[in-house]
Amino acid sequence: MNEQNIFIVRTGEVALKGMNKPYFERVLVQRIRAALKKTNEQSKEEGNGGIDVYRHEGLIFIKSPKTIPEDTIIKLVSRVFGVASISPAWECESNLDAIGEMAVKFMLKQIEERGVKTFKVFAKRADKTFPIKSPEIARIIGAKVLIGCKVLKVDVHNPEVRLHVDLRRGVSYIYDEKVAAIGGLPLGTNGRGLILLSGGIDSPVAAWMMARRGMLIEAVHFHSYPYTSKRAQEKVEKLAGIVASYSGRIRMHVINLLPIQEQIVQHCPEEETTILVRRFMMRIAQEIAKKNRCMMLITGEDLGQVASQTAEAITVTDACVDIPVLRPLIGMDKVDIMDKAREIGTYETSIEPFEDCCTVFLPKHPTTKPKLARIEESESALDVDALVKAAVESEEVVECEPEV
Ligand code: ATP
Ligand code: MG
Repeated sequence: MNEQNIFIVRTGEVALKGMNKPYFERVLVQRIRAALKKTNEQSKEEGNGGIDVYRHEGLIFIKSPKTIPEDTIIKLVSRVFGVASISPAWECESNLDAIGEMAVKFMLKQIEERGVKTFKVFAKRADKTFPIKSPEIARIIGAKVLIGCKVLKVDVHNPEVRLHVDLRRGVSYIYDEKVAAIGGLPLGTNGRGLILLSGGIDSPVAAWMMARRGMLIEAVHFHSYPYTSKRAQEKVEKLAGIVASYSGRIRMHVINLLPIQEQIVQHCPEEETTILVRRFMMRIAQEIAKKNRCMMLITGEDLGQVASQTAEAITVTDACVDIPVLRPLIGMDKVDIMDKAREIGTYETSIEPFEDCCTVFLPKHPTTKPKLARIEESESALDVDALVKAAVESEEVVECEPEV
């Protein structure tokens, strides 16, 4: 058996990135190291040695002291964006005797721990100079296992253990399970986006989805204090913290929208309140994005979900900004968004009953089919630029640390 635990990390989509593959892999290695940082430091402090993460022949490897449980490493690494799957593996010299011997030991362990009765060998020869081809390697190793483990039978259709042999130059690996991981692309490989983060179910999911595509996340939250409470804002900070446990610390810009809402209520038609407020949110968000090197806005909008998310309403909302607005949930059903929220751990917090600034001046009959010209005319009663400027200048900034 090996002195250390070894893991093979597969990169899924990163592996498709052609010429940019080394760049994506380098970033991913950094992200994995960051995810293991605390565990690594603790292990070193306790005198058990550190964790190694490195690239080798198109794969990423992790070597960790045996004192750290395998599950700890798997749990931490499988939620790093860009990791497709991870396998605990054993390594030995690249010759068939050594591999055979290790395969027997490996299978004896499976028999002892899990009462395994069937297996099948899958061989891959990454080292093409090795003189024996994959099917023959599988046959030879399979025969050695049958001799070494008398209780085992080969089952080609439904084996309990899929014994993978990965024959490489110098060292070879065997493993059975592939633990599915979170997928996506490494954080920081796709710019920075500003999420409009409410306390609802949708926007935290939208932020998570873009972070999973490699985007760094910053947030803006609007409240209407004192109509909305401090507790409502704390709920949003908590949601940002949960998203941050995947995306890294989130800087959240907090804006009181009340002065603008009051102007709208005083000077504009009641049924247009929601759409007018949304246009202000977008304009303010755009200013904050530009100041903070965010290339795009992100919202949790979902086509047709509510009055402000009809095709017409989204068109009118979009028309007041000139940077791209990403709406990753646009084509999803609400039930699927809710499932995703449960999966990432934001759901329980999102459904806590707190007021949102959007519900403060809710019109009785909001327009569902706003016309841009009409809305612009209503806005002409307001000093839009001055209101946006004042709102941006009044921002508070909260750093939301990962909730672990
Ligand atoms: P969510 O569940 O994300 O609150 P929703 O279904 O309640 O969405 P709306 O209230 O129409 O829908 O909001 C649409 C989007 O506008 C939200 O997903 C979010 O991106 C943004 N938004 C709404 N309210 C706020 C707010 N108070 N602060 C920041 N962004 C907001
Ligand atoms: Mg909402």
